[in-house]
Amino acid sequence: MVDPLQAAYDPETFRREGYAVIDAVAEYLRTALTGGPEGPFHAMDPATLAQRWPGSLSEEPQGDPATLIADLLPYAHHLHHPGYVGHQVAPPLPAAALAEMVTALLNNGMAIYEMGPVNVLCERRVIEFLNGQIGWDASSDGILTHGGSVGNLTALLAARQAKAGHDVWRQGNHESYAFLASAQNHYSVDRAVRLMGWGAGGIEPVEVDEKYRLRPAALSAALGRAQARGRKVLGVIASDCTTSTGSFDPIEPIADFCEQHDLWLHVDGAHGASFLLHPESRATLLQGIQRADSVVWDLHKMMLMPALVTAVLFREGRRSYEAFAQEASYLFDGADPEAQWFNIGQRTLECTKRGLGAPAYTLLRAYGVGFFREYLQRMLALTQTFARMIRESEDFELAIEPQVNIVCFRYRGRGSREQQNALQARLRRTAIESGGFYLVQTQLDGVVWLRTTVIHPLTDAARLEGLLACLRQAARAEGET
Ligand SMILES: *Cc1c(COP(=O)(O)O)cnc(C)c1O
Repeated sequence: MVDPLQAAYDPETFRREGYAVIDAVAEYLRTALTGGPEGPFHAMDPATLAQRWPGSLSEEPQGDPATLIADLLPYAHHLHHPGYVGHQVAPPLPAAALAEMVTALLNNGMAIYEMGPVNVLCERRVIEFLNGQIGWDASSDGILTHGGSVGNLTALLAARQAKAGHDVWRQGNHESYAFLASAQNHYSVDRAVRLMGWGAGGIEPVEVDEKYRLRPAALSAALGRAQARGRKVLGVIASDCTTSTGSFDPIEPIADFCEQHDLWLHVDGAHGASFLLHPESRATLLQGIQRADSVVWDLHKMMLMPALVTAVLFREGRRSYEAFAQEASYLFDGADPEAQWFNIGQRTLECTKRGLGAPAYTLLRAYGVGFFREYLQRMLALTQTFARMIRESEDFELAIEPQVNIVCFRYRGRGSREQQNALQARLRRTAIESGGFYLVQTQLDGVVWLRTTVIHPLTDAARLEGLLACLRQAARAEGET
């Protein structure tokens, strides 16, 4: 009789199952990357999918792990299909999955150095690299965390501690506070302020211009409105870029405003900060980012890493200790927390944290930074090509000229705004269900737009031509001209 616990940890069994899983994943990649007619989006409706794995879990084994793992592949959403131009989620580098596997197996949690020494060092090197891209020196610091939403919360907690005027971590909120942010801000910043107990109204929206960028001239009025509501304003959140349209709030004038009013400047660069690696974008769209107090940067968006790995970066490194400035002396021996930078848990929402830095650090080393720069360059060029196709067509229109790799456009349909909005939604459905594409949609000032993120390294102009052709065909099938 085999001991099941012993068998589960048998290295030879792992080797055998590991090869089988790798074979299945390689086959998935081969099929998905060739961009066959099946398309990226394989998901059935939830009820049908529920029938695929009916019933409840049983006492007895249901099959070997390799088979059961491989069985998931056909039903997943295939981001590696080059027709995937949907949300801002990367088709990760295949090698990242290998790094993730090792990281998962080692399970070196990171609250304290002793539990994850290699991961702590890898995280340190990633943070130093990202801070260097911003233009910050060795007095900067930061941490990795699970996603831009937690990242924004972490940065805003530090901002509150720095600007509220008392020790909020100990004493709680003394007043009602607010941050100013573009009317196009990501909903995670509103969640963050509600989590901090500020209720609705913790974000005072600032007017945007015709390209959906925060209008610096509107900051004063927004500050006045928040104050008139009895809120003490602690800072400004610049979205670089916004989620819907990829619009970059202009950092220099916002930084000037923050300096004048002694406000914290947080740059939500979840998507856009990666473009720091692209010199032209650095010099234009992200100009002045080094003046920020904090920056959030998702590596699972434009750095080809699997979700989630987010950097929360602080210009003044010691701010990194103020987000969760509680005494955790049983963990840190009561010492100056900065002297123990390597005990990362004192600065993160997480206690046990996955080794987020190891895959990112090893892949940045393995491919070289130039590889990522080349990727960004190509995505930007392809986006421009796509925008030109739309501009030069008679039946599609752009919402705005894309600033990076997010394109909002729509088919010029007939009828009322409602009818045209509904048409876009139907065209999107048809493209997903039959055309080998995945795209999303967004709403701007009551108008529905098709929304694409050019994020797959192997998407090309022909495929984007194909997307337009597919949408056009669907529109004509409906009697549009
Ligand atoms: C994606 C995004 C977020 C949220 O990040 P997650 O990693 O999905 O939690 C926040 N802000 C902006 C601007 C984003 O684009």
